Amino acid sequence: MNTISNNAHEAVADFQKRKTAEGKKVSIVTQNIDGLHQKAGATDVLELHGSLYRTRCTKCGNVAVNENIPICPALAGKGSPDPSIMSSDIPTEELPRCEVKNCGALLRPDIIWFGEQLDANVLEKAFDIVETCDACLVIGTSAIVYPAAMFAPQVAQRNIPVAEFNIEKTPATRRVQ
Ligand SMILES: [Zn+2]
Repeated sequence: MNTISNNAHEAVADFQKRKTAEGKKVSIVTQNIDGLHQKAGATDVLELHGSLYRTRCTKCGNVAVNENIPICPALAGKGSPDPSIMSSDIPTEELPRCEVKNCGALLRPDIIWFGEQLDANVLEKAFDIVETCDACLVIGTSAIVYPAAMFAPQVAQRNIPVAEFNIEKTPATRRVQ
């Protein structure tokens, strides 16, 4: 995973800073889970798919910040996207555990895995932004993963300016021009 923000993250953070200084509010809604917007200095970042820098208890649901890479020594060198080195032979007792008193259940990343529902509170905040914003910039997204893929068309339906910044055309392109 890339842990260094790039020019695009920095441009977004700078834009937010400039507009905030002008008294405007710039909300960032992202599907990224890598925390790089925040690393680049952005604030008010709504992470639709959660964050790799938080853990969630599989039993009590406690969410905790964990910026260790990997989150426990036993995971070092594991879980690479290369299937030939993927391994699940880690002894359970070496996996990270919840630190809430009398819990101690296994932890998982506080992210949305495929097939899981988005957090209802996060989604509500996103819809609120979609319904109230007076401009929308769509930057560096495939625009095919729902529900985020419908945000730009929804904003455009309110006759609010929507600009798409992508290297390639996406399914949203014709709907926001
Ligand atoms: Zn717990």
